[in-house]
Amino acid sequence: MKTPYKRKTYWNEPTMTLWERAYLPEILRGMAITSGVFLRNMRRWITGKKGALTTYYPEETRWDYAALNRGKHVLTMRPDGKPQCIACNMCATVCPAKVIEIEAGFDPSDTAHPKFPLRFEIDYSRCIFCGLCVEACPEDAIRMAKEVPGLPAEDRQQMWLTLEEMMSWQPQSDVAKPYAAAGAPKTGGIAGGTE
Ligand code: SF4
Ligand code: SF4
Repeated sequence: MKTPYKRKTYWNEPTMTLWERAYLPEILRGMAITSGVFLRNMRRWITGKKGALTTYYPEETRWDYAALNRGKHVLTMRPDGKPQCIACNMCATVCPAKVIEIEAGFDPSDTAHPKFPLRFEIDYSRCIFCGLCVEACPEDAIRMAKEVPGLPAEDRQQMWLTLEEMMSWQPQSDVAKPYAAAGAPKTGGIAGGTE
């Protein structure tokens, strides 16, 4: 007789003591910890000490990101406004979280760069911001810039970063290479368009 399939578990089942299973003592202990942290932070806030304040995102943005912080992805452009990307799929292949999806288009009239991305999307609900896609790109076509507007969302489906957004969002700073001026053509009118 065939043995029924048993799913693997990737976590350790918690084991609880009798005291923990009694429920109420642990609830009271949790409330005591929360109240203690709240009162400690409140005392620091009242006395003006650092460490108790949080950033009220998105109304406030943090100024103390680490120097090596990686931000949102940007696709670089050629001077004519077309994406530098040649849809080689190397970034998608190297991505450890498998969150990059590229659909390649073909433009025989562009003999230098016949392949281009028709669709280029990154699922930000699963991206781990490792930067390997940037390292793998042979064309310097994808970068990560520090400013991170619109990164969080309430719906996972809204967290797909699209080709259009990656090309229309103009980061304010990049020491390696200037980006196209604001108002430059976004996709260069490539046959097939985007998405
Ligand atoms: S930063 Fe890392 S996880 Fe995110 S898209 Fe690039 S390779 Fe994938
Ligand atoms: S971004 Fe770079 S690595 Fe990714 S498909 Fe485009 S050219 Fe290839």
